Formats: sequence, C-alpha cells, structure tokens
Amino acid sequence: MLGHWISGAEAAGIGSRTAPVYDPALGVVTKQVALASQDDVDAAVASAKAAFPAWAETPLARRTAILFRFRELLNERKGELAEIITAEHGKVLDDALGEIARGQEVVEFACGLGQHLKGDHSSQVSTGVDVHSVPSPLGVVGIISPFNFPAMVPMWFFPIAIAAGNAVILKPSEKDPSAANWLAALWQEAGLPDGIFTVLHGDKVAVDGLLTHPDVEAISFVGSTPIAKYVYETGTAHGKRVQALGGAKNHMLVLPDADLDLVADSAINAGFGSAGERCMAISVIVAVGDVADSLLPKITERMAGLRVGDGRRGCDMGPLVTQQHRDKVAGYIDTAIADGASVVVDGRGIEVDGAADGFWLGPTLIDRVPTTSAVYREEIFGPVLSIVRVDTFDDGVELINTGAFGNGTAIFTNDGGAARRFQRDIQVGMVGVNVPIPVPVATFSFGGWKASLFGDSRAHGAEGVRFFTRLKVITTRWLDPSHGGINLGFPTTD
Ligand code: NAD
Repeated sequence: MLGHWISGAEAAGIGSRTAPVYDPALGVVTKQVALASQDDVDAAVASAKAAFPAWAETPLARRTAILFRFRELLNERKGELAEIITAEHGKVLDDALGEIARGQEVVEFACGLGQHLKGDHSSQVSTGVDVHSVPSPLGVVGIISPFNFPAMVPMWFFPIAIAAGNAVILKPSEKDPSAANWLAALWQEAGLPDGIFTVLHGDKVAVDGLLTHPDVEAISFVGSTPIAKYVYETGTAHGKRVQALGGAKNHMLVLPDADLDLVADSAINAGFGSAGERCMAISVIVAVGDVADSLLPKITERMAGLRVGDGRRGCDMGPLVTQQHRDKVAGYIDTAIADGASVVVDGRGIEVDGAADGFWLGPTLIDRVPTTSAVYREEIFGPVLSIVRVDTFDDGVELINTGAFGNGTAIFTNDGGAARRFQRDIQVGMVGVNVPIPVPVATFSFGGWKASLFGDSRAHGAEGVRFFTRLKVITTRWLDPSHGGINLGFPTTD
C-alpha cells in the first residue's frame, strides 16, 4: 500500500480507508493508496507547522543550494519518474518526460530565489525616513492536484513555495499518487529538512481537512471547474489565500490562409496528445469559410497513422485514466450522433498495441458539431476532436468569447493583422499564434480566465512568487534630535 509522506518518512496513516490505483494500459489494480482521515490531516499539518520556522529562517544561500541539488537529481533520474507516471496515468513515456521537463522549468525558475525575494527599498521618503519591504513566507501551504499531470502540476507550485520559505503539503490525485512520494524522497535526498514537503493522500476528506484547517494559510488547486469553485469558496470562507485553476474547452481558430499541413499536425498533437487529457488540449477546431473541406482529409490521413497502445511500447497515444472515464468520453460519441453531428472517425473498437483490458478509446473526429450539443459545450477530456464551421473571423471570435471557459486558445493564419486582432479581442488567458498549446514558460504565469480560474493569482512566474509570500513593509527612522516633539496628526511625508 502507498502511504502518506509525513516528517520525512512514508506512513500508513491513522485512517483505514484506501482506494485502488490502476495501470490503465493493463486494466489491473497495481496497488492501494491510503485515504487520509481528519486525524491524518491534523498530523500532516502539525508536522509541517513544526518544521516551518527553522526553514523560514534558513539563509537564502542554503535554500538555493538545496533547490539546485533537487534540480540536478530530478534531471538525472527523470526516467524513473516518467515510468511511474506512465504506469498510473497511461500517457506515453515521451509525454511523461515532457511534463517533467515543464515542471523542471519551474524548479529552475525557483533556483533564482535570491532575486525573487529581494523586496524594495526607498530612501529618504520623509526627512530621515527610509522604507523597505520584506517578502515573507506564509507558513503551511496546501497544493491539491489533478490526475492529468501528477508531476508537472505540483511542480507549478511547490518549488516556489519551498524557495520562499513555506512548508508544503501536497494532496495529489488518488488516481496516480505514486509520483508525489517519489518527489518527496528526492527532496529528502536533496537535503530539504523533514516536514517541509509532506504528501497527504486522499479524497474529499483530505481536501476539506486542508481547506478548513486553521493552520493552513494558502491553497493552490488545479482540477475540474465545479471542484475549483468549491475549493475557492470554501478556502476563502476559512480565511485562506486561494488560487483555483479549473477546466477548459480550448478552441483553435483556423483561417483559410493558414498553412494547412501545420494546422493538421497541430490539431493532431494538441487534440490527441495524452489522449486529450490535458487542460490545454485543443478540443474544438473552429474552421472559417470552407477551410474545413481542405483540412479534413489532412487530419484523417494523419489519424490513420497514429499508434494507440501501451505507453511503454513507443506508441503515440495511451489509454484513458480509468474505465469509468473512458466510458464517459465514449458516451459523447453517441451524443454527437444523436445531436446530428457527423462522426468522421470513431475511436471505439480501435485495434491497440496493448492488453485487452486496458481503458482504450481511439482518436475520434466529429464534424459539424452543433454549438448547442453537450459535445461542444462540455469539457470532454478525452481524444475527441470537434469541428465547428463558421462563416467569418468575427463569428469565430464571438463563438470563442461566449464560451464558459477561458483557459487556452490558438489562431492559425499567415495574416499578421488578423492574428493581432485575435490577440486583442479574445477573452482567454493564454493565446497561441500558430502555436496550438500555448503553455507559458516558467518565467511567465500560467492561468486562464472565466471558469478556468478562481482567484486572482496564476501559477508560477511573478504571480507565483507573490502568491507564496506576503510583504512586510518597514518604515525606519533613526533618532535625530531635531525630530522630537508631540504631533498627533497622521504621518505625512513632508
Ligand atoms: P478533479 O476536480 O476531479 O480532481 C482534482 C483534485 O480534487 C483531486 O486531488 C481530487 O482528489 C480532488 N477532488 C475531487 N473531487 C472532490 C470533491 N468533491 N471535493 C474535494 N476535492 C475533490 O479533477 P481531475 O479529474 O483529477 O483532473 C482533470 C480536470 O482538471 C479537468 O477538468 C482539467 O481541465 C483540469 N485541469 C486544469 C488545469 C488548469 O491549469 N486549468 C490543469 C490540469 C487539469
């Protein structure tokens, strides 16, 4: 059984509930994971709280050295982590290495903590008075992550939180929990003091325990929109700082002048990579004019060459994460037919290079999807790519802007003026121009608009540093005999 990681060691915990962990390419249970009770939450928070003061006092140079060591170990051993991810999530090994690389980017950003935690100084704001600000850690912070990026999403947050002097409790998805324990052991090897990186496995009980615990100062959440909203509302009602990133439905607007080979490659990569289980996956192609007619054969030709199967066998696309999720996604194909869309490629019953009991669904392409259909309106989170046809650029922009989500989007065109207008008019947080998955690099911040993010802080970059610190502003005057005397007026800067 996989236990929690508390005070520097794996611990079975106090609660007796467990959940099965599957290998989705084999369709078998490989282990059980502990599900925390309230007592386990209390034990995890107590351990983190006890470790926090010494870590917050640890000199920046020593913290920096530990972060560099963690980066080196991660880089050396990323193959082991990729295998763990593939065995529990199902994504192919190359893709697992890709998510680790994007997480490592944030570790590298956090290695510059000496620069990030500098604060400001103003001299002589009033006669003999100086002001400076000190970015200070918050204390114990919680990270609650989804199944689809068991390494990268936690790494959007914990390198910066730890660099800033906080104690982190990670509550990973119970569907693929092992990566978190591997990362915890790596931190220990890198020299991080016990208690500064805790892993608490569990479900709603663990999440609610963190959201309401008086000793947890902040919550970083990533997951589906209904839970993100719940986490934001519950956490803030309990006085916490909360950033809660939610679901998505990302559109790719294709203009008739676009390079259609690039568009077809991009649609395949962004639609079916990781079996569509990415919050930045492209799930809708919005085709302007009659460009869909020329684009369709280019996409179907490429789909025919995709190898679906066990992620350890060099395939292009793996299984879905659970049988239940696979069935839910497949159900959208029936919905599409019932709603009058045209299923161009049906991924059900596909031949796979993998075990018969795996949670398989092949790449699926659906044309002429009505925008009233649940296939268009809901996040499917699987290898189902829809095409919606619109008459004009303006119709496409309006369609995207009226959607509930605002995570990512992309325009494909060779017209710089159209691309510029798109960037300015589109109501979405992350925008690509001939780039299908515009995930910002770690020096910028990641996050969507509308139902894709609750709170005002995005992940990593400057906003990540701000989220995991609070400023103390210090106004200083060294005594000068000429400034004595009583004055009950409000201090001004004369
Ligand atoms: P999920 O919302 O089911 O679970 C996310 C986390 O919340 C998990 O740790 C889970 O244990 C916990 N949780 C689940 N139900 C809960 C409940 N009722 N109360 C309290 N906690 C609960 O999401 P998922 O299926 O693991 O991940 C897929 C979703 O995450 C998709 O919607 C995807 O778009 C989204 N996602 C968003 C981003 C982003 O950056 N916006 C990134 C990755 C994934």
